[in-house]
Amino acid sequence: MSEMEKPMCPKCGTKDYVVLDTTGEKIGTGVGVVAGGVGGWCGASGGAALGATLGSVVPFVGTIVGATAGAVAGCVLGALGGATAGGVAGNLAGEQVDKANRMFRCNKCSSQMQG
Ligand SMILES: [Zn+2]
Repeated sequence: MSEMEKPMCPKCGTKDYVVLDTTGEKIGTGVGVVAGGVGGWCGASGGAALGATLGSVVPFVGTIVGATAGAVAGCVLGALGGATAGGVAGNLAGEQVDKANRMFRCNKCSSQMQG
């Protein structure tokens, strides 16, 4: 899946259950789909405004990046595949945020840790 080195779970003492926390990727995809779809529907100015609004309201970097990328992608491609493009852009943006944050989660005990 990933070549990134995983940290050891502080509770379980093993990294067998530790996975990269993909919260940013999931949020980025969801927000990107919405922003891209609405942006494509409303046109360039509407999409950009929506992205800026979402980014300024929600205090989470993954959401900001996802909304901005989704809105931009939606503006470029318009209604034709705006939601799909937004989702892809948001997913990619969120993935970068996840990798930058290096937050990991243990599937066994649900502990969160920094990588
Ligand atoms: Zn654990």
